[in-house]
Order: sequence, then C-alpha cells, then structure tokens
Amino acid sequence: MAGNGKSSAPFLVSGGGIGGLVTAYALARQGFAVRVFEQSPEFKEVGAGIQLGPNIFRVLDKIGLKDAVLADAHRPPAQEMRDAVTGKLITNIPLGAEFFERFGQPYAVTHRADIHGTFLKACQGSNLISLETSRRVDGYEDHGDRVTVRLEGGERAEGRALIGCDGMWSKIRERIVGDGKPQVSGHIAYRAVLKREQVPADLWRPDVVLWAGPRCHFVHYPLRRGELYNLVAVFHSDHYEEGWNAEGNKDLLWQHFKGLRPEVLRLLELIDTWRLWVLCDREPVKDWSKGRVALLGDAAHPMLQYLAQGACMATEDAVVLAEKAAASPDDLPSAFKAYQQDRYLRTGRVQVMARVYGEFYHARGVTAELRDLAISGRTPQQSYDGIAWLYGGP
Ligand SMILES: Cc1cc2nc3c(=O)[nH]c(=O)nc-3n(C[C@H](O)[C@H](O)[C@H](O)COP(=O)(O)OP(=O)(O)OC[C@H]3O[C@@H](n4cnc5c(N)ncnc54)[C@H](O)[C@@H]3O)c2cc1C
Repeated sequence: MAGNGKSSAPFLVSGGGIGGLVTAYALARQGFAVRVFEQSPEFKEVGAGIQLGPNIFRVLDKIGLKDAVLADAHRPPAQEMRDAVTGKLITNIPLGAEFFERFGQPYAVTHRADIHGTFLKACQGSNLISLETSRRVDGYEDHGDRVTVRLEGGERAEGRALIGCDGMWSKIRERIVGDGKPQVSGHIAYRAVLKREQVPADLWRPDVVLWAGPRCHFVHYPLRRGELYNLVAVFHSDHYEEGWNAEGNKDLLWQHFKGLRPEVLRLLELIDTWRLWVLCDREPVKDWSKGRVALLGDAAHPMLQYLAQGACMATEDAVVLAEKAAASPDDLPSAFKAYQQDRYLRTGRVQVMARVYGEFYHARGVTAELRDLAISGRTPQQSYDGIAWLYGGP
C-alpha cells in the first residue's frame, strides 16, 4: 500500500527489457507509481531461449509471477554435457523431483519473448505503471530531492528516482561508474530457433544439452511448452558488433564446428539464418548507485551467459530494490545503497564464475580431461552442492 513516503511522484525507469519491466512491476506491487521509457518503438525481446534457475522462481513467487512465467516454459528433465568430439557423456544432472526437493523451486527454459511478454502484461494490468515507447533517455540531473531525465527530442520528465535498466551499453552507467565500453570476451554466440516439426525425431531431446568442444560449444533445448527448439553455438572470434540481432556468417561457424559429432552437425545444417551476439561483460564493481539514481540488471553487472543467469539476476535485483525502496521510501539514496550492498557480491560472483565456466566448456587437451574427471563421477546431490551458492539464493 502506498504510504506517506510513496507520494505520486513516479520512479523513472530507463529501458523496458526484462530488467526494466520486472522492476516496474515489483515497484508497483509496493505501491509506487512508475514511468518506463523504452527507446524502441515497441516493447519487444529478440527471439531466443533463456534458462531459468530455481533462484528466479523464488523471487517471482514473491511478486506473484511464477505461475505465469512457468505457463509458457518447458521443464527439462535433465541438464547433460557431452564431449562434442567423441560424443561421450560427461555428466547428466537430473532436474526433476530430486532437484525440486533440494532447491524448493523448479528449473525451466523459456523464450525471451515469453518471459518479457509476461512481465509486459503484468505491467499493463497495473494502473500505477506508464509504459512509454520511442523515448530514449539521453541524460539526467539529480536535484537531491528529485531527478529529471532528458528524453531524445529535448522533453524532460521528473520523478522521485531513476533506475537505469538500459542494458550492456547503459548511458546511465557512464555517469555512475564511468568504466567505458564493455569488455569483449573474444567469444561469439550464434543463435536460432526452430519449430519442433523441423527437428528430426532422433535429434529432439527434452533436456538442456551442452556439447563441449575445443574452443567452442553448442547448446540446445526445447522452448514454449516444447513447441520450439533453441540452438546456440558459441566459438572464439575477434568479431565485434554492438547489439543483439546482427546476422551471423555461416562460413565462420563451420570453420569452428567442422569435425564435431554428427548430431551437432546435423542440427547446425538445419539453420538458414543465424543471429549473432558478440559476448561482452565487465569487471564487477561495488558502486552502482549515486543519490537518487541506481543501476539494475546488465547495466549494473553485465555477465557472460555461461551460468545462464543475466535475466535471473536482473529479476532478483528488481525484487530486492523494490523491497528496499518500500522499507525507506523517504530516504531513497539510503535504500539504493542498501540494495547495492545486498546485491554486489552475489552478482559479482556470477560475473566471475561465468568466465570460469566459459573456459571450462571450451577446454582442450589435458584441461578437458581434468574437467571430465572432476565432474563425471558426481552424484546428483554432489552436482547440486556445487551450484547451491547460486540456486539456493538469493
Ligand atoms: C547468448 C546469451 C544467452 C543468455 N542466456 C541467458 C540465460 O539462459 N538465462 C538468463 O537468465 N540470462 C541469459 N542471458 C542474459 C540476459 O539475456 C540478460 O542479462 C538480460 O536480458 C538483461 O536484461 P536487461 O533488462 O538488464 O537489459 P536488456 O535486455 O539489454 O534491456 C535493455 C533495454 O533498455 C533499452 N534501452 C537502452 N538504452 C536506452 C535508453 N538510453 N533509453 C531508453 N531505453 C534504452 C533497450 O532498448 C532494451 O530494451 C543471455 C545472454 C546472452 C547474450
């Protein structure tokens, strides 16, 4: 319920991706008015899958969106890792009853557009949220008792605080952290989504399958209640391009994947058009808020995708930020400090460990042998122990 400290001055949110929308909704659930400014002409996510660990469901449960997200998702029975050269099984981690019992929440995979669409629908259903498209935030002033943002075209908007949910290339971050461009990892991802009927029956698997190869890997899993099939091929390359939707050159992909298992090559051959992502991240930092302005999601802690956690972390951020704001609505600068204090070690650990997992998936020679030795004999409970720091939170 809105109390005295929750006067009508809205929170301003820059960016209407997964992080911006879930932040708007979490704030509105606490009784705050919110204006979301999205630079694109519509609220839309690019087509690809994301994995959702049990940690996201713990926070989605708190804001009443867990069932809606699960309704469109697919629940894989297991996560499997195989050697992309020999085909040998490296590990198979069950994600069913035993997993649920351990973490109290499920594991799921979903289309980005589906989870984004669920957040959008939730926001549209709230009379506290104003969703505004074709509105790029170009800058802001923090006046101490309120903030003003400058929108493209010169218009200004005033609010009680600004949350920068403007992603990897965040404008707001330039002012708060000022650490230049993101770091290019030297890895690029090609992604495609097929309809289930396009996938030969012997290649369709209900699990999340990761084929680990030398300086490359390939992941596939079903999406949207099993109606779609998501494919992501990652390999080392110096190619650089900003944004998430450029077309990938097929020859470059084949240079890296030739000689791998026929199951991998047959799936790759099914794709006509690949979309490309140049994978970037940043060093973890501790200070993502200043006065009445705070960062969230990829703007605060962009990470490589190897732990499949960027959207999960943004959602955790949103729920924590809204709780802190509700606890001290009259002192938002302190609320934002409490939010970053709560979050920076957890998100920093994911940023650091995601890099380690990337090395791990792309290992060659003795390093690959050591990896296989370390994880292949694990029981499910031992595998769960290894990831409990992440899945057991926040
Ligand atoms: C290959 C790959 C696989 C991934 N897999 C997973 C996974 O399995 N699980 C998972 O949890 N995460 C995954 N992620 C990470 C996840 O996609 C991101 O962390 C998440 O989408 C970040 O959300 P965000 O809202 O912070 O940023 P974004 O999604 O980048 O949204 C930012 C929004 O802000 C808008 N914007 C930018 N600048 C401005 C401005 N100046 N004014 C107004 N609007 C602006 C943009 O148009 C955009 O809509 C993956 C990422 C990649 C690259």
